[in-house]
Amino acid sequence: MEFSQYNVNSLMYITPRPEIVFTEGSGMWLTDHTGKRYLDYLQGWAVNCLGHSPAVIHEALVSQSKKLLNPSPAFYNAPMVELATMLTQQSCFDRVFFTNSGAEANEGAIKLARKWGQLNKNGAFEIITFDHGFHGRTLATMSASGKPGWDTLFAPQVSGFPKADLNDIASVEKLISDKTVAVMLEPVQGEGGVIPASREFMQQLRALTQKHGILLIVDEVQTGMGRTGELFGYQLSGIEPDIMTLAKGIGGGVPLGALLCREAVACFVPGDQGGTYNGAPLMTAVGIAVLKELTKPGFLDEVKQKAAYLSAELIKLSEEFGLQGERGEGLLRALKLGDNIGAEIVEKARNLEPFGLLLNSPRPDLLRFMPALNVTREELDLMLNSLKGILRDIKGGSH
Ligand SMILES: *Cc1c(COP(=O)(O)O)cnc(C)c1O
Repeated sequence: MEFSQYNVNSLMYITPRPEIVFTEGSGMWLTDHTGKRYLDYLQGWAVNCLGHSPAVIHEALVSQSKKLLNPSPAFYNAPMVELATMLTQQSCFDRVFFTNSGAEANEGAIKLARKWGQLNKNGAFEIITFDHGFHGRTLATMSASGKPGWDTLFAPQVSGFPKADLNDIASVEKLISDKTVAVMLEPVQGEGGVIPASREFMQQLRALTQKHGILLIVDEVQTGMGRTGELFGYQLSGIEPDIMTLAKGIGGGVPLGALLCREAVACFVPGDQGGTYNGAPLMTAVGIAVLKELTKPGFLDEVKQKAAYLSAELIKLSEEFGLQGERGEGLLRALKLGDNIGAEIVEKARNLEPFGLLLNSPRPDLLRFMPALNVTREELDLMLNSLKGILRDIKGGSH
């Protein structure tokens, strides 16, 4: 089919999209409407932790869809209970509420913290968040995000989200008052440009929040589910937060998120929280299949090994082309380009022949890599070689 035959103007215009319609995916590869293949380092935005259409997800969807789609959130269902139990066994949390997206999980975290503040902190409701943080696109989560311009877009904001600077504990301490109920952050700022919170900062935050009797919330929508090489990003710094949110990787490509908390914080009462699709067995059955893969012996060790390899190879590229190095945790990494050539690289990579390469540039001078966690060495080399060719092209004949 020709691109012009698709009536794309029947969709709301929300972002510029290339004239490509994807029709199939398998592992690290996508195929478009013309049959051209692309090596995909976006993976649905760090969502497809096992790659495109893995057999385990296909099987979970088929077998669960034959049994039960949705008995309503007013009743228990078996996959919902099983996945919650698996998640509490694998983490420091005791209770789980399932959602359909990351923003919805964060919205729930904000509500839970405010409820806890009403019960325990005299109505304290402020949640300290961070400049360049990203927590989603609902009104409250946009207000919690520290994206430039979002404070006036769709004004008025939801109030109560003062902003501190990542990795600067004094900037957090300064904002704490008797109105403060929590601090919320991503262990690695993803959309902000793959900026890790340091181990030291996470430990300082835990100590500071404990000292003031306030909650620590980690938004692990991007860093959770093995992305950093640990099952959850907070484990990198050896701390235990009070609340965590998950999405993206937990569904391996289907809409699933989760809000987790410790028993002492689980203060919702009937009427406070809910949703028609929350915890539906079709999606939670997929979550079980995904988590079983991630927790197989050796899986996360391999993620760590591949991450170390990718990191080392990106450093080599950086040295060869005079770039600014790389950063990240696990298989969430970024190459610092030095110049604002991110968009040009993304475009050139997509247009490569015989196969395209899908990359992301969250900032003009940065490339972000979020491959499937089961990416192979060969698929890493294929990407690195393609990228090298593009850099040679852009940086001229001297390399
Ligand atoms: C993607 C993302 C979200 C939003 O998740 P959605 O499923 O798109 O609503 C929230 N927080 C972080 C850290 C994210 O990366």
